[in-house]
Order: sequence, then structure tokens, then C-alpha cells
Amino acid sequence: MLLEDDGSTSNDFARLLLRTFALGVPGLPRLGMQALPRQLAASLAAPVRTRTTMESIRREGGSMLVRAAGAELRAEQVVLATDPVSARSLAPGNDDGGPAADGSPAGGGVPALKGVLTHWFAADEPPTRLNLLCVDARDPRRGPLVNTAVVSNAAPGYAPAGRHLVQTSALFGPGRPVPGDDEVRRHAAEIYGSDASGWELVARHEVPHALPVQPPPLASPRPAEASPGLFLCGDYRATASIQGALDSGHHAAQAVLRPDFG
Ligand SMILES: Cc1cc2nc3c(=O)[nH]c(=O)nc-3n(C[C@H](O)[C@H](O)[C@H](O)COP(=O)(O)OP(=O)(O)OC[C@H]3O[C@@H](n4cnc5c(N)ncnc54)[C@H](O)[C@@H]3O)c2cc1C
Repeated sequence: MLLEDDGSTSNDFARLLLRTFALGVPGLPRLGMQALPRQLAASLAAPVRTRTTMESIRREGGSMLVRAAGAELRAEQVVLATDPVSARSLAPGNDDGGPAADGSPAGGGVPALKGVLTHWFAADEPPTRLNLLCVDARDPRRGPLVNTAVVSNAAPGYAPAGRHLVQTSALFGPGRPVPGDDEVRRHAAEIYGSDASGWELVARHEVPHALPVQPPPLASPRPAEASPGLFLCGDYRATASIQGALDSGHHAAQAVLRPDFG
């Protein structure tokens, strides 16, 4: 869950996650993660344009000029809900909050980011019927994986027709050996106590910037308004999770809507 194995994450954050798991039920949207932004966008009155890269923001007079897809838009308020690296390059000089690259909690730098390597296997038989995320927390771990789940037990629509979909995750990043597909298969089989030799690899995703580091102390979300009219939000400004991203987005929305705004 934390995408680290060195204990560098805030204990308070780990406890917050445990509390959330204990009180809630982890789940997957039936139609994929895209269902979450679609649902948020559905209630908006204004049109939403996707697949458009924002190229730059600059101030002119009392407003901002945003360049995207070769065109310029003038805006009095801009909410920049990107990853921290893009936020830093689009809005240099603004306090982007979050822990610094060396893991220190003081704001200022782009927070260090942690990576994950995910393999997806199609299996004729599921190695378990349980709806559980299996975590290899043995010390030492017996292979590269930190967790695995039969994703199609929770969301059958994710699997190729008539088959089952197994996900495995390993830590990924500089200085870490990249495990081969067979090594991953072997470790997953050992975790489930089943034979994985017939599993077909259907996808392999390397995500180097999956989560920002979350070192102690666990702080309140950073103020959203980085400079007049420019609001920043994302998991790196609250807590490293979808929950943190939503929380930070909510803060940004409240700051934009505050009654005394300009
Ligand atoms: C494999 C994987 C599994 C995960 N599982 C979980 C989980 O089970 N539970 C959980 O809580 N968290 C999970 N996370 C973490 C979670 O995905 C992140 O915490 C969350 O997505 C952060 O949301 P965000 O809105 O801050 O940033 P992002 O989701 O990174 O969104 C930022 C968006 O900005 C866009 N963008 C960047 N630059 C530009 C630009 N110039 N112009 C236009 N758009 C731009 C990007 O394309 C991206 O869509 C997982 C992450 C990964 C990689």
C-alpha cells in the first residue's frame, strides 16, 4: 500500500490507512478507474475538454493566460490538478508544498515519488476465490512482490472473456532490480499455493511516479491557493492516495468558491 519497504512512511499515515480499511470496504469501479473522473465531470454544467495538454500559464494584468493545444485561454482562476512534477514545471516559483525530494517534510521541492511494477495475468482458473488483496509481509519476503490480487474476483469485467485476471505488484525505481516475468509468476504462485505456469501475461505496467513519499510528520493539507488566482491540488498536497487527492481537490474547490474571492 505504501510502496516502500524501508519504514520511511509516517506512522500516522499508515494508521490512517488502516482505519480507512477497517471502516470501509476496498473496491474497484465496475467500469474501471476512469469511472471516478467521469462521475465527477458528469455533474458539471461547463463543458469539459479532455486529452488536451496544458503547455504554459503566464500572468497578464490581473488574469492568467493558459496555453493549451496551441490556443490561449484567459482565466481569472486556474486550478492545477496535475502530478507535482508537471505542477512545478507549469507554475515554477509557486509553493508546491509536500515533502522535498530528499524526503524532508518542508515544502519547496518536488516531492520524491515512488514507483510500482504491475503484471497482469490471464488465468483459466483463479488461484483463489477470495476477494482479498494478498500482501507478502513475511520478513524476509520470498520474492519481488509486495501484493497480489485476483482482480476479477471483485470486478469480473476486467478479465479477458471467460478467464480470470490476476494482478501482481512489485516496488519499482532507481537502484531496484527489475524482476523478470517468470520470477513474478513464481512468487505469485508461492503466495497463493497454486500453479501459475499456465498464466498468460497480458500486460506489464511500469509506473515510476505512482505515489509521493509520505514522511512524518503527517501535516494538514497545504493551502490550495499558491498565488493569487492559482490553485494547486493533488495527492502530494494532502495524503498519498486517491482519498488524499479528493481531499485536496475539495480544499481547492472551497478556496475557489470562498465568498470573499475577488
Ligand atoms: C498502479 C497504481 C495503483 C494505485 N492504487 C491505489 C489504490 O488502490 N488506492 C489509492 O488510494 N491510491 C492508489 N494509487 C495512487 C493514486 O492513483 C494517486 O494517489 C492518485 O491518482 C493521485 O491523484 P491526483 O489527482 O493527485 O494525480 P493524478 O491521478 O496523477 O492526476 C494528474 C493528472 O494530470 C494530468 N496532467 C499532467 N500534466 C498535464 C498537463 N500539462 N496538461 C494536462 N494534464 C496534465 C495527468 O495526465 C493526470 O491525469 C495507485 C497508483 C498506481 C500507479
